[in-house]
Amino acid sequence: MNQTIAIIGNPNSGKTTLFNRLTGSNQHVGNWPGVTVDRKTGHICYHGHAIDVVDLPGIYSLSPFTQEEIIAREYVLSEAPDGILNIVDATNIERNLYLTMQLIALGLPMVIALNFIDDCRSQGVEIDCAVLSETLGVRVIPISARKGENLDALLGIVTEDLRRPVRQPAYLHGVGAAINRVAHTLEKTALRRDSLPFYALKLLEGDSHVRKTVALPDAVRQTVETTAAALSSHGSEDNEMILADALYDFIEEAVRHAVKRPEKPVLTLTERLDRIIINKWLALPIFSFLMVLMFWSTFGPIGTFFADLLETMIHGMLIPAVENGLHASGASGWMTGLLCDGVLGGVGGVVSFLPQIIILFFFLSLLEDTGYLARIAFMMDTLLRRIGLSGKSFVPMLMGFGCTTPAVMAARTMENEKDRRMTIMLTPFMSCGAKLPVYALFAGALFPQCASFVIISLYVLGILVGIFAGWLLKKTIFRGVSSGFVLELPPYRLPTVRGTLQNMWEKAKDFLTKAGTVIFVMSIVIWLLQNFTPSLQTASDSAYSILGVFGRFIAPVFAPLGFGEWRASVSILTGVIAMEAVVSTMSVLYGVDLGSLGGLLSSAFSPVAAYAFLVFILLYMPCMSAFATIRREMGGWRWAAGAAAFQTVLAWTISFFVYQCGSLLFQLI
Ligand code: GDP
Ligand code: MG
Repeated sequence: MNQTIAIIGNPNSGKTTLFNRLTGSNQHVGNWPGVTVDRKTGHICYHGHAIDVVDLPGIYSLSPFTQEEIIAREYVLSEAPDGILNIVDATNIERNLYLTMQLIALGLPMVIALNFIDDCRSQGVEIDCAVLSETLGVRVIPISARKGENLDALLGIVTEDLRRPVRQPAYLHGVGAAINRVAHTLEKTALRRDSLPFYALKLLEGDSHVRKTVALPDAVRQTVETTAAALSSHGSEDNEMILADALYDFIEEAVRHAVKRPEKPVLTLTERLDRIIINKWLALPIFSFLMVLMFWSTFGPIGTFFADLLETMIHGMLIPAVENGLHASGASGWMTGLLCDGVLGGVGGVVSFLPQIIILFFFLSLLEDTGYLARIAFMMDTLLRRIGLSGKSFVPMLMGFGCTTPAVMAARTMENEKDRRMTIMLTPFMSCGAKLPVYALFAGALFPQCASFVIISLYVLGILVGIFAGWLLKKTIFRGVSSGFVLELPPYRLPTVRGTLQNMWEKAKDFLTKAGTVIFVMSIVIWLLQNFTPSLQTASDSAYSILGVFGRFIAPVFAPLGFGEWRASVSILTGVIAMEAVVSTMSVLYGVDLGSLGGLLSSAFSPVAAYAFLVFILLYMPCMSAFATIRREMGGWRWAAGAAAFQTVLAWTISFFVYQCGSLLFQLI
């Protein structure tokens, strides 16, 4: 039977980094709070000990305020792991120890990993772990999860201490007696013996969740009530404050003995950098510069060069070679068509965009890991608050630029349920990475001179529509006040090569997997539907094929938007299955390689129609996997369907205006 330890700590304290180091997994590490919202399990084997390690979402306390706190707390209370590995951010030690104190009260075997010891050293902060251990009654091991420092020693102590419940420190002057009294009377209940201090603390705090879930005999309840009343009669504050104060007093004392800070604190690098980077005058120019740099590298000469190279290899070398091979082996014409035009054309059409995806994610990964993205969220907050939105929605929204599915899950970080739902509805407006091939294809074909600017404009439009939709929702179905912004700004950090490569690799792997599965199957289906008529005859002209008939049936819906062409309508529908399918569908339907596809598109679409098409792709309902996540997170089909309908109607309307106004403008000039 494996033993289980749970990694618990504040958000952004390095839990996932440590988890990845210990278990060799590749979970996403982000330099801001709120990245891990689900629990993940990994395994380690240390000198014959088999241990399961659970990575939990970051929490500040064991009070169930946010979804993550509930997940983490439920986990430790109901599944009682064999031990807790409490990770403490040494550069923020006071705040982190607040959680530690509550964990100690749980009475489970526990070890403290004092992380960021490398940063402490460079800031001239010295921490005496022996003294800290002595005060807390828990062993403290200084580590650097990022550099892998001292992890072996940590594991040694974890395996050793797994068998030992923590010793409760004699702490908390004043309130200690009250806690002890309640803990003592709780002995009459079925609660786990070692965890009684925790329940005593929570009952005295008046924690509604514990009060509801723990059944107390009348006599015990009586004692709890009188003790709580006696405690609060001491001061003007409520018990929660009194207890928190007592915990913080204890922590301060412990820190004073164990931590030596330099006389004159050096201005940290982060503080110095922030004077420039989020300076009132420089912030916007720096931001714009970085965005242009990122998009120009992705869609400008560098990205295009690699994309063209891959494209030439697929269409110029691979497909002709396969075609010749099939001819030589006497394969039938339709077999060759299915394999070359259907499968290779469709899958190859998408795969040629891999280099651009990788470059974009390289930049996004850098922006995130350095801590810059969190600053964008911070700067946006001021703007957002003016229209009544919570700046906290920006974390999930920024993640939405990668992929909508995890972004929707990240909305769990929000305490306010209305804000959470609203954020989920707005996240799909942030253009996800899978839409990139569509932009690159159209912008390259129709706006070769200014492709990056066209694409930037789409990203910006997505954000603006998100803000507008948020304002609209706030005025209607989600009326009420938003909670304040609590995203703390993480320090600037140099991204690690390992982390950056890992993010890029994950993205590439996702993309290729999708190309090899969903896109593969869809390309075959699309090819078949396009080559047979509804009466199952071979279609001489694809306009009369099953797909053609169907496409022409729905095309009128899109005619007012300028792209009433049946192939465009079909692509929009396949895009719902996976966004990448828009491009593969077009490649199959037009039956030409990407180079010539560009040419065909520029004759089939006017520039205004093409832009309206991209606007529709940007804003309409997200793909099926995101939709399923939204349904799950919103808790119902009706919500998810409502959100999808809202997005699609908005997409249609805005695209309509873009096309109509754009055409009018073009006529005038
Ligand atoms: P989590 O939110 O607790 O899971 O934290 P993460 O594992 O995502 O790490 C947050 C950030 O801290 C990342 O940018 C890590 O690279 C960085 N980090 C983690 N551990 C250390 C460490 O020991 N030293 C330094 N300097 N940075 C670290
Ligand atoms: Mg994490």
